[in-house]
Parts: sequence; structure tokens; C-alpha cells
Amino acid sequence: MNLIGHRHIWKFLVKSSRAGKISHAYLFSGPNKVGKKTLALEFIKFLNCQESDIDKRPCQKCYCCREIAKKTFPDLIFIEPQKKEIRISQIRELGWKLSLEPYSSVFKSAIIDDAHLMNKEAQSALLKTLEEPQGRAVIILVTSLPELLLPTIVSRTERIRFSFVSREEIQRYLEKRGLSSDLRERILSFSFGRPGEVIDYLNYPEKLKVIDQKIKDLEKLINSSLGERFRYAKEEGKELTRLMETLDIWLRYFRGKLRSSLKTSPKRASLAKYKKLINLIQDIELLLLRTEVNKILALETLLLEL
Ligand SMILES: [Zn+2]
Repeated sequence: MNLIGHRHIWKFLVKSSRAGKISHAYLFSGPNKVGKKTLALEFIKFLNCQESDIDKRPCQKCYCCREIAKKTFPDLIFIEPQKKEIRISQIRELGWKLSLEPYSSVFKSAIIDDAHLMNKEAQSALLKTLEEPQGRAVIILVTSLPELLLPTIVSRTERIRFSFVSREEIQRYLEKRGLSSDLRERILSFSFGRPGEVIDYLNYPEKLKVIDQKIKDLEKLINSSLGERFRYAKEEGKELTRLMETLDIWLRYFRGKLRSSLKTSPKRASLAKYKKLINLIQDIELLLLRTEVNKILALETLLLEL
């Protein structure tokens, strides 16, 4: 199966299904890129798979498994944000499609990815859908920010909480792929319990090169003059997406440093410094996302603390 970690959740869902106790709506909540959507798709495959031996479901080979993987299965409705928002028209269409008889399977299934991006109207429309009995249908809401959903939506779903996947489990997966220990270590230190990121690195190894370069730049900056830092801020602070990517890499770098200094030489001064930098980067990321703060100035503030 395409799953790294979350075995207990999988077992729970399979058991509920075998006992005929599937909920009409689930809320898969937890950090980004830990595997919520992957597990949702695997579960829908499991429910629809044509393999006769239940223990071998999902087989990944039958028509249903293949079409669900491509999200082209006629009895799966997959909803995701369009331009950072899920609109009422998408939810109305969902309600309408769920009310039809299934084409080929026993179940109608729906996944709402990034469900917290439903706007107010969309959430109210979804609430109506959840209130009406849908026959044999399963709706899975996937979100990293469940607190942005109406409490009435949350209370009508069965909450399944995802957390980070252990280092050991990711390590096992990487070992099976036969990667060199050096590459394994780099992927492990940068994925921080998020299998989705592991898959990204495996699919796009050039991402690792970008990270290596940014870390080299950062280590140079730590030993550079103020003038050089300001020049860097002027260049790197030009564009938001690029800046956010850089900050994200720095955040991971300092978290890694914090973790290894906790293990090896717990010097108070360096621990405090890493913690301070981590908090500062997180604050700046939030400011950049939510306000019109000057990007170059924000980066300069951080560079002065390095
Ligand atoms: Zn199958």
C-alpha cells in the first residue's frame, strides 16, 4: 500500500468497515503532508476494490483501484480549492452528485481536500448535506486547520487525528527503496515526520539540491558582515514565494540544529539561540502570510539575529 505510517488509523477504518460501521462523514485532521489525503484515497480504494480476498484490498490493480488513484472514478467526487477557496457551487454539486445512485459501486465517496478553505457559504451548504441522510455515501474532509470549520460541521463528523510519522517508520521506508545512507539521512532530516515530503524528494531530487544551496548560503550569512546581510535581504526579499521557501528551509535547519544540540552538547546559550531563531522565523512567516509587511525589512530583522 502507498502508506507510510498511520497503521493504527488504517486498522481502525478497516475494522469499522468489516463490522459495517462506517461513518457517513469523517474529518481527517493533522499537520500538512503527513498522509491524510493518501490514506483517504486508500480507504476509498479499499471500500470499492474488486479483489475477492478482503485481506488483499486495496489491490491497486483492479479498475476501481486504478481509477480512484487517478481521481477519475465515477463514484468518487474529489473537491479541492480553486484559487485558494472552495465555493458554494462546488459543494452544491457535491450534494447533487451524492443524491444520485452510484454508477458502478456500492458506495458514493467524496473527499474534500483542504476543507478549511471552504468559504462561509460553502460550509453552510455542506452542513445541509451532512444533515440529510445520503444513503450509502462516505464523505471525508481533509484539513490541517480544523479550527476554521464550523463547530456544527465538526460535530457531525467522526474525527480522525493524524500526527507526524516516526523517524523509524520513514527510515524503514527509505531503506526498502535502497537509497544510500547519506541520501536517506538528508531526506530524514528534512522531512520531519511528513511522508508527503519524503515522496516529493524522491520524485524531485533537484529539490534537495536547492535545499543544499540555501543552507550553504545561510551558513555563509551567519559569518558575514552586516553589509552582506542587507544585500542578501534585498535580493531574497523580492518575491514572497521564494522568501517563504527560504524561511521554511531555515526553519528546518535550525530545528535540526536544536535537536542535535539537545542530544549531544546541551549548551544553554546555543539552545536558547536556536529556539529564539525558530520562534522569530515562525513569527515572520505568519506576518508575511497575513499582512502586507515589508518583505525585505522582515528578512533584515531576522538576519540581524543570526
Ligand atoms: Zn482493487
